Amino acid sequence: MGPEEYLHDAEGFTRSLSAEQYVARSGLKATLDLAPIYERYPHLFEGDRFAEASRWDIDPRQLHHLLDFIAHGYAEDQSRDSAERAAAMETSLTVDWDEAPVPYRQVPALIAGEANAVRRHALEAKYLTAMTTLNSPLEAGEKRKQRAGRQFGHADYVAMYDELRGFDLAGLTATMKKFIADTHDLYFSTLDTYLHEMHILREDARRCDLSRIFRAPHHDVSFPSDQMLPRLHSALRDLGILLGDQPNIHVDAEPRPLKSPRAFCAIIGVPDEIRLVVKPSGGEQDYESLFHEAGHAEHYGSVGRTEPFAYRYLGDPSVTESYAFLFEYLLHDANWLRRNLAMDATNFFHLVGFQRLYMLRRYGSKLIYEQELHRSNEPGDVATYYDDLMSQNLGATYGPESFLTDVDDGFYCAAYLRAWIFEAQHRRFLLKEFDQEWFRNPKAGRFLVELWREGQKYSVEELARFMGFEQLDIGVVTQDIRRLLGAE
Ligand SMILES: [Zn+2]
Repeated sequence: MGPEEYLHDAEGFTRSLSAEQYVARSGLKATLDLAPIYERYPHLFEGDRFAEASRWDIDPRQLHHLLDFIAHGYAEDQSRDSAERAAAMETSLTVDWDEAPVPYRQVPALIAGEANAVRRHALEAKYLTAMTTLNSPLEAGEKRKQRAGRQFGHADYVAMYDELRGFDLAGLTATMKKFIADTHDLYFSTLDTYLHEMHILREDARRCDLSRIFRAPHHDVSFPSDQMLPRLHSALRDLGILLGDQPNIHVDAEPRPLKSPRAFCAIIGVPDEIRLVVKPSGGEQDYESLFHEAGHAEHYGSVGRTEPFAYRYLGDPSVTESYAFLFEYLLHDANWLRRNLAMDATNFFHLVGFQRLYMLRRYGSKLIYEQELHRSNEPGDVATYYDDLMSQNLGATYGPESFLTDVDDGFYCAAYLRAWIFEAQHRRFLLKEFDQEWFRNPKAGRFLVELWREGQKYSVEELARFMGFEQLDIGVVTQDIRRLLGAE
């Protein structure tokens, strides 16, 4: 099969997969049926497709994106059975709480909402016990992924993604180890302040206590559910982007019982069919999710329709994540909040600064751990290592139970880290080119739309260089965090 036919089918497959995810997650359908789609396109990830595609006479940059698509699709297809088994178990799993069964997927929100520490710890213990039943299919899936990672001439799963996604895992790991060491004192002194308010000693702190800190219900009043969509529309309008007039970006805000409580963006066709799906419940984290997903929607919705498949759908996912964070962090911007939500609370900025520091340390730790996991012949051997590393770096006991559920396929954790770093640099660029209210300047909006037009043709390193930076620089993120925490 030639490249043209392949690209046509690859786009058809990608569209079908996203359309299925949309109907399932938006509550239009009770089940997620991916198998029939894979079965309709067996040739995309089969046998020697990778080797054959390596010889295609197409632009090398596109080819690189395409080889990642083939190898990732192959690994996903190989481990699909286990993933589907784990997902089915997760759907039917319940946790008994206050003498009633609670669906497993609703437990994290219940944990974060539980104000009483003793009850919160008890509920987390039940949740983690239930989670261990998923580990058997997930472990089988992990072994299959590791085998898939050695299929195309790479040393292992880690080397395969490092090479195909250009993540520079060794460099990023060194950066994150240094970041974790450099921010140790700042992180732990901030953590202790919050734990002290909750009357919890650090040695007794568990991951659920961090969920409670970040849930912060006292800020809910500033983030009402009925204002979420109007605020998003007006944020985009300030940039000259009229969401209501974009026929290719459909906002699905219909209330449905089975709809995902968390906002998401379904990229069915790039750029012609994007769904921004939301079930507004209010609160800061709900606003963050909506603004984040709107960043993805605007990015994919602005990609030039004549760009090739490889740039419209594939490429470095750090790029789209950075655009999503750019919008999410409007909600952490003092100037934006003052204008849009009449909000200016020092303790709010302190909290979001702590949350950002936590996320960077958490994903840095995951990056270190996930390399160990994917290089371990017996995945169960690294469960204790996971618990030790996460608990040590985050100052709260994680427990070994989530060593397989807390994993991002294909080192997506690296994409998030790269996106956080580039987002901070991109925002510096916008501040310099425009001013501190760049988010109210239609010229900044036009600049973004131009940038989005290219999809994910360029990596975040290349984009940082276009904006005058020598390289990705985590120091800019550290500055942002210190400013939010008032630790300058
Ligand atoms: Zn995202």
